[in-house]
Amino acid sequence: MGKLELTDKEAALQTTRRGYLTQLTPARRGFITNYPNIQHWKKSTGEDVLMPQPLNVYVHIPFCAQQCSYCYYKTIQGSRKSEVDQYVDTLCREIELATRHFHLDERPVRSIYFGGGTPTLLSESNMKQIVECVRNNFQINDDAEFTVEAEPVTLTQKKADMLRELKVNRISLGVQSLCDDIIKLSNRKDTEEKVIKAIEMAQSTGASVNIDLMSGLAGETPETWAYSVRKAIESQVESITVYKTELFANTEYFKEIRNDKLVLPNDEQELEFMQYAMDKFAEANYLPWSFFTFTKDGKNPHVHAPSIWRGEDYYPFGTSAFGRVGNWLFQNTSDVPKYTAQIEAGKLAISRGHSLSALDLMVREVVLGMKLMNYKVSQFEERFGFDLEKICAPSIEHLLKEDYITLSNGEIALTQKGILHGDYAGKSLGQHLLNLF
Ligand code: SF4
Repeated sequence: MGKLELTDKEAALQTTRRGYLTQLTPARRGFITNYPNIQHWKKSTGEDVLMPQPLNVYVHIPFCAQQCSYCYYKTIQGSRKSEVDQYVDTLCREIELATRHFHLDERPVRSIYFGGGTPTLLSESNMKQIVECVRNNFQINDDAEFTVEAEPVTLTQKKADMLRELKVNRISLGVQSLCDDIIKLSNRKDTEEKVIKAIEMAQSTGASVNIDLMSGLAGETPETWAYSVRKAIESQVESITVYKTELFANTEYFKEIRNDKLVLPNDEQELEFMQYAMDKFAEANYLPWSFFTFTKDGKNPHVHAPSIWRGEDYYPFGTSAFGRVGNWLFQNTSDVPKYTAQIEAGKLAISRGHSLSALDLMVREVVLGMKLMNYKVSQFEERFGFDLEKICAPSIEHLLKEDYITLSNGEIALTQKGILHGDYAGKSLGQHLLNLF
């Protein structure tokens, strides 16, 4: 029987993390009990593991006043009160079911987000019922962000007062444009006047107000875009978000463009609109903290989206809502009768899901991480054990050469050009990782 001891060289190698598995000659020795070797673990009292992980809560309200021409979401128009009441009851039942099933009540809630659809289309009693249910089922941090999306036309002073009473501390208004002609072409019921009034009502609640604009809507010209940007800045809201108009086959825009009834600005024009907005925002000291959100002095970034981009869990409630628990992504059915039947039967209404692989996690890390404009490469090594600078060297070199990013002190940062081109840098890094493994 051969000796079971390690050679001196093997023993020396074993003291390093990378050498732990090294065996210089094939032999039945060096029984592995763990990896990495216990001597490479950090000092810990276990608190970091025992601390419940933060949670973000998303509540989906599918009802809208109209179907906007560019919108590809599955929304519901013209609902009867009884239908909305039933949806709200089901939503509350789902909150109770999922909270119990996933032990969500043990986790501190960092942010709550009511999105849609149009949450402000709900009646006061519907809204109160959901908020009460959320508060009764979760441990909500005192400083948690509570956002409600609102369409200007649906916001009244009474609703704004109700939002204040419910302690909503962020209102995000889907404005899209402040030019009546452009608004009309999008099949929305707002007008510039209604939008300005809605912004003032939202501001009267004391909440932080965000307005969304869309660059590249049908009919947009440099003049109409300049008007919307000027009006947005004059409103003095805390933050302005600019989304790119994207064309999807299930939209009214798509049909009208196919029938030559409508023309969208091309990519170059849309880039010029974005560049114009960035210049004007900078002059007014609205600075970016993500490549599409600009806040006064670049301060007070939102909480909900960045928490998700940093890899935290977010639980989705309501039809078609999607979220993440651990390494599992999943989405609820978008079929309301099915959703209702499932929940009434005491089951969750999840209709699809995906278990994130190690590669998915790495790609997500860079694609979503770069939305925040700065990414510490050491974070990648801490999470995945790879030196991002080394494994993505060709992609990083390209992005540096073309002036999309800078790299200094171990941090990748988007340049002005990188901000203008949105997800491009993150997608390039993600694609590189996909090609590599
Ligand atoms: S209000 Fe918002 S969610 Fe509803 S159809 Fe219009 S863009 Fe889509």
